[in-house]
Amino acid sequence: MSTIYPFSRPLYALAKPVGARCNMRCTYCYYLEKDEADMSDELLEIFVRNYIESQTSAEVCFTWHGGEPMLRGLDFYRRAVKLQQRYSSQCEVSNVLQTNGLLLTPEWCRFLHDEGWLVGLSIDGPADMHDANRLDCGGHGTWERVMRAARLLDQYGVEWNAMAAVSAANVGEPERFYHFFRHELGCRYLQLSPVVERHVERDGVRRLAAPDEVEAVLASYSVTAAQWGRFLCGVFDEWVRQDVGEYFVETFDATLACWMGVSPGICVYGRQCGHAAAVQPDGSVYGCDHYVFPAYRLGSVRNQSLWSMMQSERQLRFGRSKSEGLPQQCGQCEWLFACHGECPRLRFCTSAQGEPRLSYLCEGYRQYFRHVAPAMDFMKKELLAGRPASNVMRALCH
Ligand code: SF4
Ligand code: SF4
Repeated sequence: MSTIYPFSRPLYALAKPVGARCNMRCTYCYYLEKDEADMSDELLEIFVRNYIESQTSAEVCFTWHGGEPMLRGLDFYRRAVKLQQRYSSQCEVSNVLQTNGLLLTPEWCRFLHDEGWLVGLSIDGPADMHDANRLDCGGHGTWERVMRAARLLDQYGVEWNAMAAVSAANVGEPERFYHFFRHELGCRYLQLSPVVERHVERDGVRRLAAPDEVEAVLASYSVTAAQWGRFLCGVFDEWVRQDVGEYFVETFDATLACWMGVSPGICVYGRQCGHAAAVQPDGSVYGCDHYVFPAYRLGSVRNQSLWSMMQSERQLRFGRSKSEGLPQQCGQCEWLFACHGECPRLRFCTSAQGEPRLSYLCEGYRQYFRHVAPAMDFMKKELLAGRPASNVMRALCH
């Protein structure tokens, strides 16, 4: 089984076959305000070819993202597979479908299984936590339907991971949250994503704020830094006592990677940004899924190679700016090696020295890194000695 580690690949792009079109209306969605459009068959071929030809390694990972990418219909993905086969004589292709699961059917499952696709299923925990934000277009909860999707994936032997957004609705109960994924859902790979969104209001219209808009108001469903820190510590304590090496939480894997001095699988903890482009239905390319704003458009797959856009001075500058623009507080921080100032889109706070661009989640991360440091030190020692990191569980019992 593999997990979703797209950012460790040399050239990576998320494809948006329906743009922001979605059959759900999650309260915290950062994408619903973007354009809705279907990627045409013509553009699909251009994208598949361009993406494969832009690769510098023998592997290429396609991620189909939304909105809700299943709205584009199964035939579109059947065509995508054929095109991948046509253009990929030199490399190995894999596919990831990130979905809310509502449209999943046995026919889809057979396709996903037969083609060996990995599914990322969005689910935020038990019913009350999930249904607090993840609503359908009629305002109804979707938990029952997502659980049905998870069972269907299991039934057809489709490989899948869970992707959980951590918001004000579930951040307060890390033990119950983790227990659900571990025991009720039986999910072995879990990705956690903190919900932090801000709004600006102009001329009576409210919209999500761009990362550099400082005068924005935090959305009520966002987590606070302290809540995020306590949550990570709580989930870590559950995981480290019984599940190391058997169940995987992406954040903890990334932290251990940083402890080991290797690049983490998640861009937010890495030294640089800019490894993952977002390709819109019209072929427009942006340097990051969180920076789909006109000022960050790199070009189009119609007339430029993805490689040239990702290697452009503009994108390289975007990548470097992650570590160049840090406040002193980060520069002097003992956890810089594991945090790297977190994601630039969340750097809208002021440091203790009054400098701008400190991560909104800083306090939470400091709490988390302090808390996990002894276990991380131990796991590092074991790995360097050629022993499994899971020995930490035995050590904690004594
Ligand atoms: S801006 Fe954030 S999400 Fe985008 S590449 Fe950088 S760390 Fe990753
Ligand atoms: S924990 Fe805070 S101070 Fe340390 S590197 Fe991360 S954001 Fe900067």
